[in-house]
Amino acid sequence: MSPEPTKIVLSEHEMPRQWYNIQADLPTSLPPPVGMDGKPIQPEDLAAVFPMNIIEQELSTKRWITIPEPVLEILTLWRPSPLYRAKNLEKALDTPARIYYKNEGVSPAGSHKPNTAVAQAYYNREFGIKYLTTETGAGQWGCALAMSCKLIGIECKVYMVRISFDQKPLRKTMMKTWGADCIPSPGNTTEIGRKILAEQPETPGSLGIAISEAIEEAVQREDTRYSLGSVLNHVMLHQTIIGLEAKKQFEKINTYPDVVIGCAGGGSNFAGISFPFIHDKINGRDVHIIATEPEACPTLTRGPYIYDSGDVAKMTPLLAMHSLGHGFIPPAIHAGGLRYHGMAPLVSHVLQHGLIEACALPQTECYEAALLFAHTEGFIPAPETSHAIAQTIREAKQAKEERKEKVILMNWSGHGLMDLQGYDAYMSGKLENYPLPDELLQQSLGAVKNHPKP
Ligand SMILES: *Cc1c(COP(=O)(O)O)cnc(C)c1O
Repeated sequence: MSPEPTKIVLSEHEMPRQWYNIQADLPTSLPPPVGMDGKPIQPEDLAAVFPMNIIEQELSTKRWITIPEPVLEILTLWRPSPLYRAKNLEKALDTPARIYYKNEGVSPAGSHKPNTAVAQAYYNREFGIKYLTTETGAGQWGCALAMSCKLIGIECKVYMVRISFDQKPLRKTMMKTWGADCIPSPGNTTEIGRKILAEQPETPGSLGIAISEAIEEAVQREDTRYSLGSVLNHVMLHQTIIGLEAKKQFEKINTYPDVVIGCAGGGSNFAGISFPFIHDKINGRDVHIIATEPEACPTLTRGPYIYDSGDVAKMTPLLAMHSLGHGFIPPAIHAGGLRYHGMAPLVSHVLQHGLIEACALPQTECYEAALLFAHTEGFIPAPETSHAIAQTIREAKQAKEERKEKVILMNWSGHGLMDLQGYDAYMSGKLENYPLPDELLQQSLGAVKNHPKP
C-alpha cells in the first residue's frame, strides 16, 4: 500500500463543535432582505414562516456558533465524513495534481443536505413547532428533511416539483418510509397551486412554485413553519461543518488545498466546503475557489446581481442575489438540484467581492466526468456532483499542462443511486447540451425590472 492513506478520517470527538459564520468576516455587510418598497424587513415579518431561533441565526454576525449537543449526536450517525484521495482518478488523468474529495454521500439520505435538515428540525422542535412544510426538486431535500423530522420527532410535509414527482416515484417512497407526506406541486391543496394549474394545467412545476405552496400552508397554522434546504444564511452556516472537517483532515497530512471546488444550485454545499477556506483567504491565504453550475441554469455566470424573490408568488422577501428571475422555469436537465433561479445571498456576495469564481458547464461533459469517476473511484456521483467533478478534471488537466503539483479539493455532494435515469440517457446517447438561450433569460428578467436595486 502507498504511504499516503486513501481516506483521511477524524474520530467523533474531533468533530467541529461550532459552525463558522462568514457574516463576521465579509469585506462589506450583506445587503438586508427588503420588501417591494426597498425597505429592510423586520425579523417579526418572518415569524409566521420561520421560528424565531432560526431567524436570529439568519441575521447573526457572530463568527462561531455552537452546534447544539442533540444535533451533534445525530450527525455522528455519518459524520465526520471521510476525505478521500482520488488516487485512481489521478492515475487515469496522468496528472501531477493531488485530488481530494469530501464524501458527503455517506449520509443516510445520500447527500450533504441532512447537515442542515437535522439542525432545522431541532430548532423548530425547541421552539415548539410540531409540523414542517417544505419543497423539493429532485427529492434529495425532501428525503433529508423527512429523515431528520423523524429522528427529531416532528411531522413533515413535502411539496415535490411535479416533473420529478412523476419521474422519480421512489423518492416519494423514501420520504414515506421516513414517515413524511409527499404531494406533487403545483397541486390543488393551495390557492397558488390552484391558480397556476388553472393557467397552465400541463406545467412541469418549479422549485419557485413549490416554495410558494409550502409557505402558504405554513403561515396558516400556529404549530407549523416552513423549512428551506438551501439559499438562506442559516443553511450555509450549518453546512460549514463540511469545510471545517476538511481543514482538520488536511492538517493531519500537513497539506492545504490550492483549489477548492463545489457545485452550486442554491449554494449550500459549495458554501459548506468553501466558507472556512474563504475565511483564510480573507486573512491573506492564497486559495482559488470555484463554484460550478449547469449551462442550462447559469445563475452565477449569467444571472444579474439583483433584488429578487425566492419563489414565484413572491411570498419571500426580496434577497440580494444572482438570479435568473423568480418566474424562471429551468429546462429539464438531470441535475435537478441545480435547477433553481436564485443563488444564496452569501455566495452571490462573495462572488461580487471577487473571493470566488464561477463557471458554467455543459451536461454531457459532466456525465463523461461522472463515468470516469465511477470507473476509477467506484462511487456513482449525483448528477449535481458531476459538475464539481468535471471542473476538478479540467483543473487536473491544466495542472498537467503546467506541470504543477497542485492540490485540489472538491466537495462530493452526494451519490447518484436514486438518479440513474440521467446515466441511462447519457449512455444511450440521448443527452444533449442546452446552453440557456438569451431570449429566455431576457424574458424571465423582464418580470424583475421594477425591483429595488441592491
Ligand atoms: C441539492 C443538491 C445540490 C445542490 O444544492 P446546493 O444547495 O447548491 O448544495 C448539489 N448536490 C447534491 C447531491 C444535492 O442533493
